Amino acid sequence: MGVLAIQGDVEAHARVIARLGAEAVPVRREKDLDGLDALILPGGESTTISKGLERLGLYEPLEAFARSGKPVLGTCAGAVLLARAVENHAVRSLGILDLVAVRNAYGTQVDSFSAIAEGALEDLECIFIRAPRLRRLGPGVEVLARVDGWPVFVRQGAILATTFHPELGDDLRVHEMLLCLVPGPEGG
Ligand code: GLN
Repeated sequence: MGVLAIQGDVEAHARVIARLGAEAVPVRREKDLDGLDALILPGGESTTISKGLERLGLYEPLEAFARSGKPVLGTCAGAVLLARAVENHAVRSLGILDLVAVRNAYGTQVDSFSAIAEGALEDLECIFIRAPRLRRLGPGVEVLARVDGWPVFVRQGAILATTFHPELGDDLRVHEMLLCLVPGPEGG
């Protein structure tokens, strides 16, 4: 399981993956993607991460990785980077998740909050830190959880995205879902 390690909440994701018995591999260059079965784009500062992606020439390799059908989870800034388009404070996104991300839609750092989402996972506590909102979802995007009516956890094929931080706290179910999308050795 790769974790994009340019900036942001890399260590917290690695800890969750280790708790689930998988190995977290930091991804900083194209060849780090070789042999990975899935990838996490962590939260952080999407402007900084996008500059890193540009500098390291990682846009095309990451897009190819996701389009090959391998599972990808983007959280918060990672969700912004997956989006088809970014509505404000534009950053270059990968364009592989059919929705529009609105950055910092809930306010600044002091407006961080947690809430219980409604949806597929019961009692899912979501921690929002300068979270984006997701709008104009395409027909292939399924909403797995909502808070105040807004999608906070979505899925399009093997791509998962959360506007909250599932790596903070003790609930491992979002990462478990990602691991479940990895085909077994038999390809099943
Ligand atoms: N608002 C930040 C951004 O768009 C994301 C915040 C986060 O990942 N916690 O870069």
